Amino acid sequence: MVKPTIRFKVFPVSKKDNLHNSSILEDSIKEDSVLEDNKLVPSILDGFKEKNMLAVNIFKKIIERTIPAKIIHEDEQCLAFHDVNPQAPVHILIIPKKEIVTHDEITEGDEQLLGHLHLVAVKIARELQLFDGYRLVLNCKDAGGQSVPHLHLHLLSGRPMSWPPG
Ligand code: AMP
Repeated sequence: MVKPTIRFKVFPVSKKDNLHNSSILEDSIKEDSVLEDNKLVPSILDGFKEKNMLAVNIFKKIIERTIPAKIIHEDEQCLAFHDVNPQAPVHILIIPKKEIVTHDEITEGDEQLLGHLHLVAVKIARELQLFDGYRLVLNCKDAGGQSVPHLHLHLLSGRPMSWPPG
């Protein structure tokens, strides 16, 4: 029997690429990778190791109160606190208490929880009077720039945000 071959597209994204420009996006799509029999293909991170996920889940320690944080919201499902290394005048992290390592791990059972994180983001944005707007960021795994292995939303505001993100 002939085994099926799965073809998929690779998006080589450089910092100068503007992914809002669909023609650039289409030009950059290359059907250059073939996944056969679950063999691994080269990672898009090859030659681009800028950040690695930490082995230790610091956020779990914050939930357990074994390390301190400037907590601004807590309920049964989540915690929100100031980022220790803020990238904007307002930089809040919103994390579920449930241990979810990456966005890639979420399941249908997490639907309500993820909606809740967003509602908490809106509540915080209103409390902090971020009426001009804000940006929510969710980094997933190494290529997405994730460093802490516990799903989290970044709520950033207080300065204009440029696009594309780095
Ligand atoms: P990411 O790179 O998307 O995983 O984001 C992790 C964020 O956690 C970074 O913005 C860090 O500055 C932040 N961070 C790391 N350790 C702490 C900590 N102990 N308290 C608050 N924020 C932290």
